[in-house]
Amino acid sequence: MRYDLVVRSRRAVLGDGERPAAVAVRDGRIAAVLPYDAPPPEAAESADLGDVALLPGLVDTHVHVNEPGRTHWEGFATATRAAAAGGVTTIVDMPLNSLPPTVDVAALEVKRAAAAGQVHVDVGFWGGAIPGNAAGLRGLHEAGVYGFKCFLSPSGVDEFPPLDGAGLREAMREIASFGGLMVVHAEDPRLLAEPAGPTYPQFLASRPGEAEARAVEEVIAAVRETGARAHILHVSSAACLEPLAAARARGVPISAETCPHYLTLTAEEVAGPEYKCCPPIREAANRDALWDALAAGVLSCIVSDHSPSTPDLKVPDFAAAWGGVSSLQLGLSAIWTEASGRGYGLRDVVRWMAEGPAALAGLAGKGAIAPGNDADLVAFDTGADFVVDATALHHRNPITPYDGRTLTGVVRATWLRGRRVTGEKPLGALL
Ligand SMILES: [Zn+2]
Repeated sequence: MRYDLVVRSRRAVLGDGERPAAVAVRDGRIAAVLPYDAPPPEAAESADLGDVALLPGLVDTHVHVNEPGRTHWEGFATATRAAAAGGVTTIVDMPLNSLPPTVDVAALEVKRAAAAGQVHVDVGFWGGAIPGNAAGLRGLHEAGVYGFKCFLSPSGVDEFPPLDGAGLREAMREIASFGGLMVVHAEDPRLLAEPAGPTYPQFLASRPGEAEARAVEEVIAAVRETGARAHILHVSSAACLEPLAAARARGVPISAETCPHYLTLTAEEVAGPEYKCCPPIREAANRDALWDALAAGVLSCIVSDHSPSTPDLKVPDFAAAWGGVSSLQLGLSAIWTEASGRGYGLRDVVRWMAEGPAALAGLAGKGAIAPGNDADLVAFDTGADFVVDATALHHRNPITPYDGRTLTGVVRATWLRGRRVTGEKPLGALL
């Protein structure tokens, strides 16, 4: 049986562990996972990675592409090129910061049309739940969105207002009626304040961890009242972890994610507005608690929350600067640098950055090297270091808090459905 592609590695990260294997691909899918030292199967193309690891393509369910409408902040071509270079083969785009926001089927069609023909990785879409659109959520679900994002506090853009407690429940009752998923930016607006001044400590004090914890409790209450599944986006504060763990132990269908910047950066080292995001990067002790929660399964996903802007909006004033960290191309290396130092292995990283997000969005055939799945593969050189140069990254604007940092782990190659992503020709599909 002739294959289209065979990729061999002494360190293939499979569902049951890391071991030598040969991954054989036909028609864009993984046809077989064979022993590494079996006689080489007949294939049109083959690669032997040796000691370079072979991972499933990562799935990043939290990306703000911003096209159309704010394409000068980020666009589909640049974001997906950055994703592929960073080992991410599937992204799910957030419904806000593009114009129009993805809050009805017409807007989803506008977005799909904008993305068509220019994506280098596979792209899916979240819908948005805002005041007044509950009756339209089923239509968006049927049109193919993976779930619905809402805010409980102001989002940063006027066209995407937050839900109050009643609005949250109304939307979640509707979502429960078709078995959908609500994903929530959880900060309680009653516990947020205007920063008292331009410094980072003043910004951090304006968005306390307690605001996150209270909002998480509100979402848990809404899940129990409505029966809808919910997911907490970008957990930054360790104060969320106890209520999340307790709810999960009771069988409440709630999950949560965190992001590379909360796991690798600390408030103590914040150097400029490129670090500003909401909720904020917190202290080192808080970061350690997030790692423990990943190990315990209370947090199940690490996703980028890549949310870029143009440089002019990153003013040197933490009260006024745009909030959003750009890291789509760097998440795997940033996390590997920190995770390996903490004694975690590639299997853990794959669970958090591929399997977990794929399961969250219900992306069948993604996030794992297994027969029948899409042949989305990444060659990852775990021992190689590089210094981040923001101007050399593929995302549109050369801003990232990782600029100048030395990271460990280099993506050597990315395959999407068995085809090597080179950036010359967009190979991605709209999901
Ligand atoms: Zn976000």
